[in-house]
Amino acid sequence: MTLRRAFRFAVLGAVFLILGFATAIITPLALALVYPPVKSFRFQAIAYIDEPFQLGTETFTGNTWEFDEQRRVGMTSLAVMTMPQTERPNFPLIASPDLSPEIDWFMFRSWLPHRVPETGSNKWIRANLYGWPFRSLWYGTIANTGFPQTPPWTRHGYGAISAARIGISDRFLPSRVLWHGLIANTVVFSVAIGVLTIGLHNYLRWALRRKGLCPHCGYDLSATQGGKPCPECGRPSRQSETIVGTVAADSRRDV
Ligand SMILES: [Zn+2]
Repeated sequence: MTLRRAFRFAVLGAVFLILGFATAIITPLALALVYPPVKSFRFQAIAYIDEPFQLGTETFTGNTWEFDEQRRVGMTSLAVMTMPQTERPNFPLIASPDLSPEIDWFMFRSWLPHRVPETGSNKWIRANLYGWPFRSLWYGTIANTGFPQTPPWTRHGYGAISAARIGISDRFLPSRVLWHGLIANTVVFSVAIGVLTIGLHNYLRWALRRKGLCPHCGYDLSATQGGKPCPECGRPSRQSETIVGTVAADSRRDV
């Protein structure tokens, strides 16, 4: 009996977890369809690099690095630009920029797949991170020249799935995973779905009991003595208010 109850809890938990995971996947995809990619960036200089410079797994030389970050609800767009040292920008270098966790991740951990940019050309690297409440899926795009408004961001996509097939030509679906965000969102949505489901379930049973009806089948219990099982479905007419009591009562009935 205890085993059966534990099994039912496990099944219930697994269902909530699967639903939470599905929601955590669907949310960033939906956000990517809703939001067009950010095209306009202001930027801050973070480094002028004279010596060969290790960034992630790549070595860069002879470039100036800028970055910018823009946020919307459920979306963070990051842009990093390299440019040749001969074209130092005329805005001040920020010695200790306020880097967010996303910037840290973007700059120093796992991405930046490109080799040293071609000499004499600017290169913009942009990452669009989607998800709510935490960013969980992303894609990257890269452009070789010019200012961020200008480049054809659609070229050199990293994990960017074009939505053109479903008729939205300027959107891309992210296919790269930010595991910490995906796991956190899965937990958040699983708990939310579980609380809502159990809450609704208990509310409906409470509402039926309050009307003098069987909480399981809706049979009118006004002629049934208190504490006796429902004459229609045979299940107990009185139960504790929680799903714990319901599961326990169901398992007793099944044995
Ligand atoms: Zn009943």
